[in-house]
Amino acid sequence: MGPQRRGPFSFEHMQRATKIVATLGPSSSDPDTLSQLVAAGIDVVRLNFSHGTPDDHRARLDVLRNAMRTHGRTVGVMADLQGPKIRVGKFAGSKVLLKPGQPFILDAECKLGDSQRVGLDYPELVGDVEAGDVLLLDDGRIVMDVVRVDGHEIHCVVRHGGELSNNKGINKQGGGLSAPALTAKDMEDIRTAAELGVDYVAVSFPKSGDDMRQARQLLQAAGSEAMTIAKIERVEAIANLDDILEASDGVMVARGDLAVEVGDAAVPALQKRIIRAAREANRFAITATQMMESMIHSPVPTRAEVSDVANAVLDGTDAVMLSAETAAGEYPVHTVESMVRICVEAEKSQEVSLDTHFLDRVFTRIDQSIAMAALFTAYHLKVKAIAALTESGSTALWMSRLNCGVPVYALTPEIKTRYKVSILRGVNPLLIRYIGHNRDELLREAESELILAGAVQPGDLIVLTIGEPIGQPGGTNTLKLVKVGEHRPAH
Ligand code: PEP
Repeated sequence: MGPQRRGPFSFEHMQRATKIVATLGPSSSDPDTLSQLVAAGIDVVRLNFSHGTPDDHRARLDVLRNAMRTHGRTVGVMADLQGPKIRVGKFAGSKVLLKPGQPFILDAECKLGDSQRVGLDYPELVGDVEAGDVLLLDDGRIVMDVVRVDGHEIHCVVRHGGELSNNKGINKQGGGLSAPALTAKDMEDIRTAAELGVDYVAVSFPKSGDDMRQARQLLQAAGSEAMTIAKIERVEAIANLDDILEASDGVMVARGDLAVEVGDAAVPALQKRIIRAAREANRFAITATQMMESMIHSPVPTRAEVSDVANAVLDGTDAVMLSAETAAGEYPVHTVESMVRICVEAEKSQEVSLDTHFLDRVFTRIDQSIAMAALFTAYHLKVKAIAALTESGSTALWMSRLNCGVPVYALTPEIKTRYKVSILRGVNPLLIRYIGHNRDELLREAESELILAGAVQPGDLIVLTIGEPIGQPGGTNTLKLVKVGEHRPAH
């Protein structure tokens, strides 16, 4: 009998390069739905720390781990911190209807709101705004012009009205809010995230690299080596993008808040710029928010949503993210299936030509040079797969920053690394069990894992990278061309 593939859906999903992040919530936390989501192709789950308790997150992770075992798939876990989202307080009747032209007061000392005023969960807002500023409430659905600030009161006139309900968010057009990126709740949540053993932590509203450095320090102090993701959603973050990229492992184009701060029309170009900058800095990028919004209530996406997801793929995003669609929507599994279909089709339409501007870059690290050489060789020889034997995952990261049209398999004995690379475009994590130091045995193990996963067959030509002596992180120093099943260099 030939080798058995591990898990019925594994190989199918390894043929898709773009990764899918799904937010978990009430619609996606029961074992059956989560199992279907894993089978449908999610690569990373997002635990939204704006909602739920540590016990809710823990329970979801238990269910997820079972589903991963059932389907033989690797799914990373992201904790998304709430951050300093500035919100209005509560209303006596839980909501009010605001009419264009009517005066309205944001009052830092108001306990329970009515049709004339409402409280603020961030009293410092009164010091951040002045007459002439524009405030956007509820993701920009309601717009108010500030006419004056009087002590603890911000007097506004409603420009675009509508229903305003309890705890809706407030943004200032053009940015300039002083709230620090990490709140006391975030710091507590970082400890929870570390305890839960998450793979990624997304920081909301960072303004600078220092915000990200602080998050990493707190994580490390809590004993976590989680990768950090900067959510780009403030005007200041755009200005400080290079510093933020330097201090983070990845970025999220958080289009919801970003659109409110910079204006919706500016977001598509920023999305392209952020993704490009992330790739050039060897960081990953996630494109988020309203990608399949209509599927919260509909079993099919709109044409515009299909185009949006496909365009993000063509922009080079590592992952596309679902928020309410999977957390609270009526069709979470359908939504993921649709997204898979769109990603696969968009990737097929993409012309692969190795982006040669890397030829002008200087690589002083041996492991990075080997990664680049592997891409170049794989592209020209049209090999079946690149097998990166990696401890830390860095080789797979560098390989995935350029598209050579050949899937990368990150073969690692490190369980943590397997999850760390799960978000990288074009990288498929595979666990190898071999922990000895004999190169031939390791290569045999790598080959049989690739065959078992359905990635290659005996006789296929593959490019393999490895570090010798075996077992040292950052030690990749060897590039080999291997015909699967023949333990000698191909000719
Ligand atoms: C966003 O604003 O686009 C975003 C992803 O953040 P959140 O969903 O946490 O508001």
